[in-house]
Amino acid sequence: MARYGIIVDLNRCTGCMTCVLACKQENLTGPGIWWNKILEIESETLDSVHYVRYACMHCEKPPCVEACPERAIYKNANGVVLIDQGKCKGHGECVKACPYGVIERNPSEQYFPGPKLSFEEKSDTFRIHHPGKATKCTLCVHRIDDGKEPACVAGCPSRAMTFGDLDNPESPIREKLWRSKQLLAGEKADPKVSYIIPPNFKEVLEKRIVENPKMVRD
Ligand code: SF4
Repeated sequence: MARYGIIVDLNRCTGCMTCVLACKQENLTGPGIWWNKILEIESETLDSVHYVRYACMHCEKPPCVEACPERAIYKNANGVVLIDQGKCKGHGECVKACPYGVIERNPSEQYFPGPKLSFEEKSDTFRIHHPGKATKCTLCVHRIDDGKEPACVAGCPSRAMTFGDLDNPESPIREKLWRSKQLLAGEKADPKVSYIIPPNFKEVLEKRIVENPKMVRD
């Protein structure tokens, strides 16, 4: 079994939003729901602007899993954190528990009301989003099970993201692991998405995540 993760190189990200649109196109999330975001963070002290690709960290010890009273959130055999839409009752405890603020709830209205669309007739269940239920990045588990990269990684023209098995010495992600850092490591969630971060920016980024959850939560 693998232990999949992503390393995001903030020195390469230009904030072009291609990964954001690739995610939307792949997963057809509803209006106002963004599994994959770009945070634009301006720092007066560093006199710089940085762009940060931001989504579920697929934590090794996910607080969302612990928080769900329905046991609807789980890690699959490859370490991908998923929400069982059949079990989720939309309590929102996971939204509060996630230290990274990346779980949202679908709007209460169905995005595509009316007759079933072609993808609903097929087995593309990852594109069906249930009203009022918790929702977040799935690491494009349907793609990685087919041997492909997540859509955000594949779409990035700057190759700012590296996807792979953190336990596989042959995986390209392993070459970059030593240069990457986890965000909010003090939360002890052990995220499998980590970042190569420009000098002195880590503190600025973490402060922004903690102080301004509106940035990442609706
Ligand atoms: Fe759960 Fe949040 Fe960790 Fe994702 S980042 S696994 S939603 S606690």
